[in-house]
Amino acid sequence: MLYKRILVTGGAGFLGSHLCETLVYEGHDVLCVDNLYTGRKTNIADLLGCPNFEFKRHDITFPLYVEVDEIYNLACPASPVHYQFDPVQTTKTSVIGAINVLGLAKRCKAKVFQASTSEVYGDPKVHPQQESYWGNVNPIGVRSCYDEGKRCAETLFFDYKAQHDLKIKVARIFNTFGPRMRMDDGRVVSNFICQALQGKNITIYGDGLQTRSFCYVDDLITGFTSLMKSEDSITGPINLGNPSEFTMLELASQVIELTGSKSKLVFEALPSDDPSQRQPDISKAKAELQWEPKVNLTEGLVKTIEYFDAELSS
Ligand code: NAD
Ligand code: UDP
Ligand code: UDP
Repeated sequence: MLYKRILVTGGAGFLGSHLCETLVYEGHDVLCVDNLYTGRKTNIADLLGCPNFEFKRHDITFPLYVEVDEIYNLACPASPVHYQFDPVQTTKTSVIGAINVLGLAKRCKAKVFQASTSEVYGDPKVHPQQESYWGNVNPIGVRSCYDEGKRCAETLFFDYKAQHDLKIKVARIFNTFGPRMRMDDGRVVSNFICQALQGKNITIYGDGLQTRSFCYVDDLITGFTSLMKSEDSITGPINLGNPSEFTMLELASQVIELTGSKSKLVFEALPSDDPSQRQPDISKAKAELQWEPKVNLTEGLVKTIEYFDAELSS
């Protein structure tokens, strides 16, 4: 294999740290750039001693001049709690961040990957979601800083390709979970597991009948690297996620069963613009990348529960 100089923005976050680990073990020279807004140095602690890994604290809304062959652009808070805390910064991170990585890719002639999201489909009226669906997105709601920021980033990626012939790879990521999510992340899997392990009430927003389709992190990272390695004609946007769909009530009952918890369910208000259903159609990823997830929800939950159990007792 040809070793490359690879930049990972958002590399100290949940997904970014798993990606850095994979790339470092493949032997690449990895530069992780992160402003540590939601990322943590502990996520990359095991990599800091590796000679082919380097960490740089930097905010991607400011220009970055480094020499690289490939870029994975993951910088952006992903949990609604965190991206809604400073919505203007969230939009800046997606939009100005994309402009900076695209400018960098243009100068270095680097191949560039964008971590887009199923949120570009908003509260979808088409089910399951195919890449051809344009979405149903509120431009001025609480989720808009994230959804519209990511949509604009996709626009920038495709216009840089059209105008400057950049090699781009755009992945639309669906809900992913696993070790290294933050305990205070606010996303549903980490919330339910931490609540169950601590015997606290499990907070169901709304009636709990809304659905999500959960992908285990290892499967997703294989999808990232498969997309990056695919031929240049494969640009995406391409859905990456696990099509097995569950209601939040089903998720809660699996978590209770696997943890043996005595936690009770409590029902809280549904946040506004919360999508009622979400499931990826991954036919394109299967056909173009020969990729599909292998870890089912139960197996993934077992590994994630083990991680949070250790975190909580340390
Ligand atoms: P995360 O919050 O753990 O990681 C995001 C990382 O980006 C953090 O380390 C954070 O400190 C860093 N960051 C934020 N703003 C930055 C800035 N201005 N400059 C530099 N670094 C910055 O979230 P994650 O789940 O690992 O998500 C990673 C990427 O994948 C995000 O772009 C997210 O939108 C996308 N994504 C994730 C999911 C999922 O389910 N995990 C789903 C869809 C899309
Ligand atoms: N940029 C960067 N690193 C580079 C090259 C560019 O951060 O190595 C940033 C630069 O700040 C610029 C942005 O990327 O504003 C877009 O670059 P581009 O060359 O597309 O546009 P221009 O420089 O003409 O604004
Ligand atoms: N959710 C919930 N309880 C929680 C956290 C989230 O019922 O403690 C719900 C939330 O309303 C949403 C789903 O779980 O319908 C997924 O939420 P998450 O924040 O994980 O991701 P997203 O909504 O961005 O897909």
